[in-house]
Amino acid sequence: MRSTCFSVLAALGATWILAGYAAAAPAPARITVLYEAFGKNATMTKDWGYAALVEIGGKRILFDTGDDPGILAKNAKAKGVDLTRLDFVVLSHRHSDHVGGFSFLHGVNPKVKVYAPKENFGVFGSDLPGTFYRKDESLPAEMRYYGGMPPETMKFGTAFPGANIQVIDKTTEVASGITLIALVSDAPGTKELKELSLAIDTPDGEVLVVACAHPGIEAIVAEAAKINPHIHLIAGGFHLVVAQDPAIEKIATALHDKYKVDYIAPGHCTGEPTFAALQKAFGDRYLYAGLGTTLNVGANPRAESDSKASNSSSDDDLRTYRALLAQSDGS
Ligand SMILES: [Zn+2]
Ligand SMILES: [Zn+2]
Repeated sequence: MRSTCFSVLAALGATWILAGYAAAAPAPARITVLYEAFGKNATMTKDWGYAALVEIGGKRILFDTGDDPGILAKNAKAKGVDLTRLDFVVLSHRHSDHVGGFSFLHGVNPKVKVYAPKENFGVFGSDLPGTFYRKDESLPAEMRYYGGMPPETMKFGTAFPGANIQVIDKTTEVASGITLIALVSDAPGTKELKELSLAIDTPDGEVLVVACAHPGIEAIVAEAAKINPHIHLIAGGFHLVVAQDPAIEKIATALHDKYKVDYIAPGHCTGEPTFAALQKAFGDRYLYAGLGTTLNVGANPRAESDSKASNSSSDDDLRTYRALLAQSDGS
């Protein structure tokens, strides 16, 4: 009995030492799905759109805001995600199912830096040099733009007034190892739409988060592979929601065989038949990424559906404690 008590006390001591070690350990690497139209978390609301909290490389990044501010608020609360603590936000593209929830975020975190794609006369605001249009000096001043004296830079407004938006024109490394890939869609219906994807270079390879992949998932992966040809994980929407089987097969094969992507965690506009095709192609390297899932992104990524994003380290501590307690009971 005495030795059992001692063992338990020793186990607790070891847990505290481990907990202390955990506090000094590297920051977590995980992606938490906050907005999604499929999932099994009953405390969250499913809705069409995408938002994910990306915690990698010591940074906390909100990637998109979903469609509805109230649903984003509810889902973030359900997962215990504090959106007042962010390093920056990425608004991937102008579609409402990715930016519609922004007003909630702006309300709780008005000064946070927001990266968004630069599109001429786009909703995120833009500018052009005063030299961009042709001049005709033979016209009277009242027929000329700005009376013939345009400003050096012509600034155009934003649908997100007051937001600290920095528009991104071309693929840019915004922090060490963290790159925003900027590509333009050529697809009918979204021609000229510019979209940002988030590429994070990690010791295990590149982690790529895509929103809707309007420029084409293959084009985005090809661009990401220029940064690091070893793609470790792709999460997000692949925009194959209405694609036919041959097109789906082609992409599943390219991701698996050509780009040799380690893990895949598709969501949003990827499409139900594409979920099935990718699951078949990737087997146990297909990670379920429904609403509320936390993807632990390390050497061996795994999906956890029920852990809270902000306190999974204490869950880890609890597991360590239980394991040590079990060992002490057995000895
Ligand atoms: Zn879209
Ligand atoms: Zn979308």
